[in-house]
Amino acid sequence: MYDEILIDHNLHPRNRGVINGVRPIKLVNSGCGDELFVYLKFKDSKVINGKFKGNGCAISKASADLFISSVKGKDLRMIGEIKEIFEKMIVGEATKKQVERIGELAALESISRMPARAKCAKLAWESLDKITVEDLKSV
Ligand SMILES: [Zn+2]
Repeated sequence: MYDEILIDHNLHPRNRGVINGVRPIKLVNSGCGDELFVYLKFKDSKVINGKFKGNGCAISKASADLFISSVKGKDLRMIGEIKEIFEKMIVGEATKKQVERIGELAALESISRMPARAKCAKLAWESLDKITVEDLKSV
């Protein structure tokens, strides 16, 4: 079932595209050849819209699509909590209860058995570490 979610997000990404007037955050995973651009539009430290574009492996793209779906409409504090669980999950350290809290992102739990792909799964999430004060004021 989870593999179906990943395949579906690859074939039919919900959040592919760009947002005019929003700075693209460039993310590179050279080991795999993934290169993504993430657009996050904020209002009152809440993500009100998100998109991504670029090229990468199936895992990095499905993960980016799931990332944007799961941060949209949430504030940075809540997103930080989800990120913490997600990062634990992909290295196999999250509890079942924690994984249940992060919804569709649980589709990436199998990455914990493929450590070489953890960077692909985490790539879009790295955009959160690159947000500037200006990005938060972009509206
Ligand atoms: Zn990759």
